[in-house]
Amino acid sequence: NIQLSNRVSKVTPSSTLAITAKAKELKQNGLDVIGLGAGEPDFNTPENIIEAASRSMKEGHTKYTATGGLPELKKAIIGKLQRDQGLDYKPAEIIVTNGAKHALYTLFQVILDEGDEVIIPAPYWVSYPEQVKLAGGKPVYIAGEESQHFKITAQQLKAAITQKTKAVIINSPSNPTGMIYTKEELEEIGEVCLRHNIVVVSDEIYEKLLYDGNQHVSIAEISPELKAITVIINGVSKSHSMTGWRIGYAAGDEAIIKAMTDVASHSTSNPAAASQYGAIEAYNGTQEPVERMRQAFEERMNIIYKKLNEIPGVTCLKPQGAFYLYPNVMEAARITGYEDVDSFVGALLEEALVAVVPGSSFGSPENIRLSYATALESLEEAIRRIHSFVKEKS
Ligand code: PLP
Repeated sequence: NIQLSNRVSKVTPSSTLAITAKAKELKQNGLDVIGLGAGEPDFNTPENIIEAASRSMKEGHTKYTATGGLPELKKAIIGKLQRDQGLDYKPAEIIVTNGAKHALYTLFQVILDEGDEVIIPAPYWVSYPEQVKLAGGKPVYIAGEESQHFKITAQQLKAAITQKTKAVIINSPSNPTGMIYTKEELEEIGEVCLRHNIVVVSDEIYEKLLYDGNQHVSIAEISPELKAITVIINGVSKSHSMTGWRIGYAAGDEAIIKAMTDVASHSTSNPAAASQYGAIEAYNGTQEPVERMRQAFEERMNIIYKKLNEIPGVTCLKPQGAFYLYPNVMEAARITGYEDVDSFVGALLEEALVAVVPGSSFGSPENIRLSYATALESLEEAIRRIHSFVKEKS
C-alpha cells in the first residue's frame, strides 16, 4: 500500500478527459454518441508541415537538440512575434516546450514558492489551478461575470492582490468562453500588474482563431514595461492543427526563460526533433491553411450558435474566438427537472447521447462547454438532440 505524495494528492484529474473517456465507453458499447468535449481541431496538420518533418528525419535530424529548442525554430518564433505582435525578442528570451501546457507547467515551477498566490480569472482552463498547486502555489479565483462577458476588470484584480500574489493568468481568446480582452481592458489590467509588480502569464494559444473581424492584442504589446513583466505562452497546437506534435513556447524575461530551460534540461530535454522541424515550417511557410481552418470554424459557429440559442432555457453569448460555445443552461436544467447543470450534463450523455463538458470544471457551474471542432453535420445533429431532450422533458 504505497502512500502518494501530499503534493499529488491535491491534484484532480482533467474532467474534459473524463467526459471524453465516458463518451468513448458508451461508443464502444455500440451507442451513437456525439462528442463535443474535445479541445482540438478536427483537421489534419497541413501537408507542407508534415513533409518538412518527414524530410528532417530522412536527413538524419533524429538526435537530441538544444534543450530550449533548435536555433532555427527560435528564430522562426522570433520572426512570428515580430510579424504578428511587433515585438522583439532575443533567442535567450524564448524556450520551446512540449506543447503550451508544458510551458505553463515549467513557468509555475520556476516562479512560485510555497504559498505564493496566482490569480486565475474564472471561467478558466482546467489545467491552470492544478499546475499552480503542483508548483506549491495557491490558486486565487476571481469571477468573470457573464454580464461582463466572463472577463475580469482591473478593479476586481486589484481587490484580489495580496502580499503573496506572484502572478495573474490572462487567457485571450479564452478557453472555455471564447471571449477576448480589448486593448483598453488590457491596459487597465496591465497598469495594476505593473503597480504591484506581478507577473502576467499571457496564454495566447487561440490567437489565430478570431471571428467577426476581431483582432488579437497581446498585453505585452501595450508598453515595454508590460512586455518586461509578461510571459507569452503560445504554440502551434491550435493555430496549425498540430495538437499531437507537442510544440509550444514561452517568450519573456531572460532569467525566467533560463530557469525554465534548466528545469527542462532535467525533466523533458528538448521537444521531439521532428516536431520542431515541422514547427519551423509552420511559422515560416504559408499561413493559408491557418486562415482556411479559421474560416471553417467561423462558418460552423455562426450556424450552431443561432440554433443553440433557440433551445428553451439556453442562452449563449456569441464567441469572439477559440472553438467553444459556452451557453448558460441553468434554466434548461431547471425546466427539465435537474437540480444542477452537472446532472443535466450526465443525462444529456446517457439519454441524448451528446457529450459536453459541465461548466463546474471551469469554475462556472451554470454553463456547459461545447466544442465546434467537429464536422458541421455532427454539430447540427448534436444541437437537434439537445433541443429535443429539453423539449420532451420540460
Ligand atoms: N492553454 C489553453 C487555454 C488550452 O486550451 C490548451 C489546450 O487545450 C493549452 C494551453 C495547451 O496547448 P498544448 O496542446 O500546446 O499543450
